[in-house]
Amino acid sequence: MRTKVITLIGGGLAGCLLAMFLARRRFPVRVFERLPDMRKHRIPAGRSINLSLSTRGIHALKEVGLYRNIEKHLVAMPGRMIHDRDGKLLYQPYGRDESAVHYSVERAALNKILLDGAEAAGAELFFGEKCEGLDFENRHLLLRREDDDNQRILPFDTLIGTDGAGSAVRQAMIVQKGIDCRDEHLPHGYKELAIPPGPEGAFRLEKNALHIWPRGGFMLIALPNRDGSFTATLFLPHSGLESFRTLSDEGAILHFLETEFPDVLPLMSDPVHDFLNHPTGTLGTIRCFPWHVGDQALILGDAAHAVVPFHGQGMNCAFEDCVVLDRLLDEHDNFESLYRNFEAQRKPNAEAIADMALENYIEMRDSVRDPKFHLRKHIEWLLEERHPARFIPRYAMVMFHRIPYAVAKERGDVQAGIIERLSESINRVDDVDLDLADRLVTESLQPLAAMPSRS
Ligand code: FAD
Repeated sequence: MRTKVITLIGGGLAGCLLAMFLARRRFPVRVFERLPDMRKHRIPAGRSINLSLSTRGIHALKEVGLYRNIEKHLVAMPGRMIHDRDGKLLYQPYGRDESAVHYSVERAALNKILLDGAEAAGAELFFGEKCEGLDFENRHLLLRREDDDNQRILPFDTLIGTDGAGSAVRQAMIVQKGIDCRDEHLPHGYKELAIPPGPEGAFRLEKNALHIWPRGGFMLIALPNRDGSFTATLFLPHSGLESFRTLSDEGAILHFLETEFPDVLPLMSDPVHDFLNHPTGTLGTIRCFPWHVGDQALILGDAAHAVVPFHGQGMNCAFEDCVVLDRLLDEHDNFESLYRNFEAQRKPNAEAIADMALENYIEMRDSVRDPKFHLRKHIEWLLEERHPARFIPRYAMVMFHRIPYAVAKERGDVQAGIIERLSESINRVDDVDLDLADRLVTESLQPLAAMPSRS
């Protein structure tokens, strides 16, 4: 295997991290990235200026020794701050203690550190090189430079598509190999609005929180940046009464923002301008299979399983893909079996996080407003305290542990049934029937002893 050159398409978050893992194992690695080198050129951030980095992603970055370089770019978010229409605030910690924390990180800063890491590990990076197609039979790759009219043909030994949600590699697999693919568009899109820092870089909202303005059918969120600014993202239906389609002129936009988000509007520099000029992003889930073509190609990260962003796991899951592929390299001596085993292990987990991310949208935009939601959270913490080996809230299993997503989903469903039963006729956590709670937990949940946990 070591004599084969591994070609990666896409030098984004997953592509660079994977290049590092592979180059560290002394594979010759080359990466073709469509965009110019972002370390030398200013590139618009495109989608999501900042991201939530949690335990799975942190573990992956530690594995390649990059976490220390990234730490200084992080802002801790140990809880959510819920803003209602009257400006009333409710802070909800994510867990019982400070270990339940995830971090806001600027996408560009993270990608630059990963590019440096990939290069330092020995990967060859080629920028401004767009993959326009593949010929699997002949193992040829079609590339075009932005400033060039001619398509070039390049041979490859084996190739991994880390080219994101709109993957050209996946598209070639669909067309030439007939892989099954569903692209489930969400009826909601998103738009980013800037909240600049206050005087001398002051944070004008609580710094250490993920802010949410839940409004039922839509929501605004904001994540902190190190410079005191916040990046706010409005998630709204594409069409309908209150939607990106109907909010098309200055007056309507201003009225909407004033009515729905009065407390944060004065903190934004020019929200109406941002609204009219920033692109409206689309969101969706990619469910495709298989993810490989013989020993020739594999897709990984968003290229294989893009998910909606409401659990903050797309990047974290893509990073976990890289860790799993690296570990499988210890057990396989050919690319075909490596790729086959990788997809067998990751597909059920990708499906699980795709489903949980969709469910979490309802939680963020709606359920967090329900007083019963808070009661259920407190009961979860109570059960976690009484049965730490058996009961871990589903949100924590996904965000603060490395328990496989499929296991988190399965146990989460069982736990939801227990919580429903314990909370149905009470309004205070002190009224939980503890005997019943202990019985339900011990009868229906096996201990999680051997599961990988916090990083
Ligand atoms: P990408 O990051 O998309 O990288 C793909 C790379 O391939 C890019 O550099 C691109 O330029 C390049 N490329 C594309 N096509 C070609 C081509 N034809 N030829 C050559 N190069 C090509 N995830 C989280 O974990 N936490 C979050 O908080 C979070 N928030 C999000 C918020 C929003 C609004 C969105 C849209 C996503 C969010 N995500 C989040 C998901 C996260 O952005 C993705 O899961 C992650 O970027 C996937 O990494 P990737 O490397 O697979 O793809």
